[in-house]
Amino acid sequence: VPVFDEVVISLKKMNQVIDIDDLGGVMRCEAGCVLETLDERLKEHGLMMPIDLGAKGSCHIGGNVSTAAGGLRYMRYGSMHGNVLGLKAVLPSGEVLDVQNTLRKDNTGYDMKQLFIGAEGTLGIVTEVGLQLATLPKSVQTIFLGAPDWPALCNIFRRARSDLGEILSAAEMIDGEALDLILDIMKERSPVEKRCPYYMLIETNGSNAEADQAKLMEFLAAAEEAGIVADGTIAESGAQAKHIWSMREGCAIAPTSAGHVRWYDISMPSVNMKEMIDLAREAVSVAGFADKAKIIGFGHFGDGNLHINVVTIPEFDAAVVEAVDRFVYGFSRDRGYSVSAEHGIGLQKRGYLTYTKSEATVAHMRKIKDLFDPNGIMNPYKMFAP
Ligand SMILES: Cc1cc2nc3c(=O)[nH]c(=O)nc-3n(C[C@H](O)[C@H](O)[C@H](O)COP(=O)(O)OP(=O)(O)OC[C@H]3O[C@@H](n4cnc5c(N)ncnc54)[C@H](O)[C@@H]3O)c2cc1C
Repeated sequence: VPVFDEVVISLKKMNQVIDIDDLGGVMRCEAGCVLETLDERLKEHGLMMPIDLGAKGSCHIGGNVSTAAGGLRYMRYGSMHGNVLGLKAVLPSGEVLDVQNTLRKDNTGYDMKQLFIGAEGTLGIVTEVGLQLATLPKSVQTIFLGAPDWPALCNIFRRARSDLGEILSAAEMIDGEALDLILDIMKERSPVEKRCPYYMLIETNGSNAEADQAKLMEFLAAAEEAGIVADGTIAESGAQAKHIWSMREGCAIAPTSAGHVRWYDISMPSVNMKEMIDLAREAVSVAGFADKAKIIGFGHFGDGNLHINVVTIPEFDAAVVEAVDRFVYGFSRDRGYSVSAEHGIGLQKRGYLTYTKSEATVAHMRKIKDLFDPNGIMNPYKMFAP
């Protein structure tokens, strides 16, 4: 997003798939390919993108690489740092850095592509990407569970990990207040009947529907017997699975129609997520904003990635943002959490970079930036002050 005097470059027309090797499960494509379009295209090869997120219908693979996007398949299929095999980037000098590759193994010195993954466009423009793909699962099962309390939610995950094993592919958390708010905004019904303090969306990807369903039923029976599930539902159709996912995706998008939303994106031990959500609510209350600011908590539980969204109704209020920033970033620094799990630094978190990385590390990052971009023309103002 341009903020001062930048020039915007669109890669929308660089949208060609160069080649797909369905035996190796790798693909080369141009950076302007839309994530969802790639996913659709790969289906005919029995493959899928290793990444999925709410913005899939509009985001480009070049943007996903440049933000090191995480998303909903991260737990099972890994990060962009693992799945990008190569890339081409145009440097500010006009030189093309060609480290395009579709080899899974390549130990020939510095892994230059890694610098561009998550660089937010500060080093050069990614124009082409080589990717390791995932096998399209033959069976996808989606369930939505309500937990009676936080320890029970943690135990649902522990049990899912051991009982579902290799087919577990997503474990997403939504807190009760988040679901209440988005159901109200979206005018939707909850997937479950009971109102619970915490919910978990679990998805499995496997190769045999019958075997996967049997595993899931065993897991659910054991979880119920252990008293860690207050209510739950299993999607019996694609439409029902979509409805369940719309609850999770709605947490990010729906509140924007109710007021101003400030997104927080913290990397932390999952077990401590409740503590952080509760303390954020307390910070808002102590600052006297409980009437106009609502805190909702949700996120990628299986990846230790909490999103806290502060919804200020009806509009932006600098004092609310300041109070929550102070708490969330200060608490993250004190606990050794990361102030950005998957959304990057940009302009908003520029001042908080040293809350997670040391001054010495940031100084080395700065040297790398100056080496590639001595005139500071690539996505200026973002990540570092000019
Ligand atoms: C509804 C919604 C849900 C989301 N959910 C998730 C989620 O679950 N997990 C997650 O990790 N993220 C999530 N995101 C953020 C998402 O990862 C990013 O918006 C997306 O990956 C960026 O791609 P884009 O094409 O939109 O890039 P843009 O928004 O256009 O750009 C993003 C950054 O990358 C740079 N950039 C873009 N293209 C290039 C290029 N070719 N070369 C160099 N730099 C480039 C830009 O300069 C900018 O700094 C979500 C976003 C939305 C809107």
